[in-house]
Amino acid sequence: MEKTIAAVATGNAAGGLGVIRISGEKAICMADKVFRPLDGSSLSDLKGYRAKFGSIIFDGETFDDAVALVFRAPKSYTGEDVVELSVHGGLFIIEKTLEAIFAAGAVPAEPGEFTKRAFLNGKMDLTQAESVADLISAQGETAAKASYNALQGALSKRINGVLEMLTDSSASMAAWVDYPDEEIPELDDQALADTLESARITLEELLKTYENGQAMIQGIDTAIVGRPNAGKSSLMNLLSGREKSIVTTIEGTTRDVVEEVVRLGELVLHLNDTAGLRESNDEVESIGIERAYQKIESAMLVLPVFDCSRPLNDDDLGLIEKCKNKKTVAIINKNDLPTAADISLITAAFTDCVFISAKNCTDTGELEAVIKKVIGASDFDASAPLLANQRQKLCCQRALEDINEALTCINSGITRDAVNVLIDDAINELLSLTGKKATVEVVNNIFSKFCVGK
Ligand code: GDP
Repeated sequence: MEKTIAAVATGNAAGGLGVIRISGEKAICMADKVFRPLDGSSLSDLKGYRAKFGSIIFDGETFDDAVALVFRAPKSYTGEDVVELSVHGGLFIIEKTLEAIFAAGAVPAEPGEFTKRAFLNGKMDLTQAESVADLISAQGETAAKASYNALQGALSKRINGVLEMLTDSSASMAAWVDYPDEEIPELDDQALADTLESARITLEELLKTYENGQAMIQGIDTAIVGRPNAGKSSLMNLLSGREKSIVTTIEGTTRDVVEEVVRLGELVLHLNDTAGLRESNDEVESIGIERAYQKIESAMLVLPVFDCSRPLNDDDLGLIEKCKNKKTVAIINKNDLPTAADISLITAAFTDCVFISAKNCTDTGELEAVIKKVIGASDFDASAPLLANQRQKLCCQRALEDINEALTCINSGITRDAVNVLIDDAINELLSLTGKKATVEVVNNIFSKFCVGK
């Protein structure tokens, strides 16, 4: 028998309410020991999806009013009996209620254990379980939509469609090989190739949208770079809506990378304001400049900032060179001042430029639209099935490799046995993606990244 577990579901901070979740065979009887309904009834007599108002009792003492919500297995989040106790959200009250539940026999839930039980009890597959964590950590509308979509099973449905095609083919081939005396028609090469081709297209489409999906769900790693005083920190502050980076006229003020996560309309940007790029003899500043160059390399998006009120210098020209082959939106800053820079050098080097006054600007709409275009987010469809993480991507990639190899085998007339083995490998990869065949290590690893209470 699984132990009955309990944890705070509402996080470790004071609030209007705190919810403690209890799940397991003895959840209702344990809740009965700490919760007394006002009408003198008992939770054990309550049907599922019903609530009672009452009080929390510990050591014979009443210390809070509460509402108990009862779910009966299998119609609950975990698939087990579940009680959710809503108490006042003070940290002491929550702790005390939890202590009372532990004293009644429950054990502390491990990270992600509620969702893990939901997965193990068949309430959701692995992609849906992973989307719970994504939904909770979503920082923007698109990320939340995409994660909710995954929770509803969008990716699972797409993968299961491919699995069905592959298992049908595999079963037909196996039957034909295993029962030569029966009159089972051999699956012809063309039909098999058509099935594999269709599976290939679906998996390739999923892999193609992976990077965009990651950018939209996890946020876009963005480097703000430029020579000292170009207006990098001002841009950072404009985007973050507060004074995060220190804005001064003294060159070399930002000596290291300043990071901030900001929401720009539907986009989430992980901004990195870097040290001004220039020749420097200062050891600390030089390290900062080196890091700025590294950030240009590693970032998904670069925002090179140019001060149009000063002529371009070698540092600007060097920056233009460094940004080649990167996804960039050139920021031509200080457009409230007379222009002294040769702007044509910038517009010739960058397809996408935004003229702005980071100091005076209040509307970031144009910048958002251009970034969306450069990142490929303009036509991003959050309601389409998406691979949400590296694990899912790798499973999909390996399945695709197997399918491609199987297609090559068919085209070069290699025996059906080899094709069958490859199709089975692809099936296994997809089953581990959805969790039907995931190893214990993979499952434990996924849920260990959740927080307690999820
Ligand atoms: P950074 O060194 O690239 O981070 O540049 P800062 O953001 O610290 O800005 C340097 C100086 O330029 C500060 O005095 C800012 O107030 C000023 N500045 C930044 N953006 C603008 C702008 O759009 N117009 C004007 N006139 N001044 C600006």
